[in-house]
Amino acid sequence: MRLTALACSALVLLSACAKKEAHDDPHAAPHGDAHGAKTEAVAHWTYEGKEGPEHWAGMGGDNAVCGSGQRQSPIDIAGKTPQKASKIQFAYRSSTATIQNNGHTVIVTPQDGGGVIIDGTVYTLKQFHFHSPSEHAINGQRTALETHFVHQNEHGDLLVVGVMSDIGNADPMLASLWTYLPTDPGQALPLNDILINAQDLMPGTEDFYVYAGSLTTPPCTEGVTWMVFSSPLSVSAEQADAFSRIVGPNSRPLQARHDRDFLHVSGGA
Ligand SMILES: [Zn+2]
Repeated sequence: MRLTALACSALVLLSACAKKEAHDDPHAAPHGDAHGAKTEAVAHWTYEGKEGPEHWAGMGGDNAVCGSGQRQSPIDIAGKTPQKASKIQFAYRSSTATIQNNGHTVIVTPQDGGGVIIDGTVYTLKQFHFHSPSEHAINGQRTALETHFVHQNEHGDLLVVGVMSDIGNADPMLASLWTYLPTDPGQALPLNDILINAQDLMPGTEDFYVYAGSLTTPPCTEGVTWMVFSSPLSVSAEQADAFSRIVGPNSRPLQARHDRDFLHVSGGA
């Protein structure tokens, strides 16, 4: 199993590797949970207290995997990382978009935001959203903010690109975006007057950690390929706080790595 997981991640991805379970409709409206599962069937959940992460598995239905899964996210990305070169082509486009506070996070949904092509497979950007503090850790270190760019290929396989952000200089793109932050949960609202290009919210590198994981929100569905940028961006403390005040903290605790490997993938192959 270990080699299979590694090979699948390395190829990012043979579509069979990350095939979602048949009953999990990949075309369901991307919301409720931040990563693309249905809203209707998902029980109410939170990040603390009686409906917090340690209780997600007990909410019934598909949520059991939140507790029993062997490939859950997030994880601490630490230790030895085999290297691999992949052909990574960023093909993001500037697009009109909407913004929504769904009570768990703030989601930006571009209408036509392009995507990323990895070893010939096209992954279309569906939406991106934020967690504070970061969900993943690198060598044990979490950061102030993590942005998740959720992509899907034509087979319905999910690829999430993670960008960690440390406290430092303000992020100019977030500065624009944050002026639209919806303070209360509600419907998606149009982002008037600005176009969104996902590339503007990513480091200018092609260096990632890649591993096989899951949604980090109920129902914690596995078969998600994660690509976490190895180098962080920066946000100001004010920017991190502005988000956290609205929906934070919204990070799932680190999950057991079990027998998973991850790869250190660089572009340019
Ligand atoms: Zn997320």
